[in-house]
Amino acid sequence: MRINDVDQKQSIVMNIVLQTQILKECPVHHQVFCDEEADPAIAFALAVQLIHHNRPLAMAFQQSVHVLADMLSETIAAAPNVCPQCPGSLAAA
Ligand SMILES: [Zn+2]
Repeated sequence: MRINDVDQKQSIVMNIVLQTQILKECPVHHQVFCDEEADPAIAFALAVQLIHHNRPLAMAFQQSVHVLADMLSETIAAAPNVCPQCPGSLAAA
């Protein structure tokens, strides 16, 4: 049985950024957005730890912290600064 590789990686990345609170989820709209105060270095530090200590996760990323770090950067960069559906988000943008 083959699992969807891209989806699996994406969900691991999402897990890391939410767990380290780099990205937050709007409780009302369930949209993910970036916390400006958060330090992305925390997410990268956790990524390095996971690659070294979590075998299934490491396998998903070909044992490469760079693959995981690249996806983390992309995910963080792609996230808006506020929930796009919250009132006032357009004025803040
Ligand atoms: Zn919202």
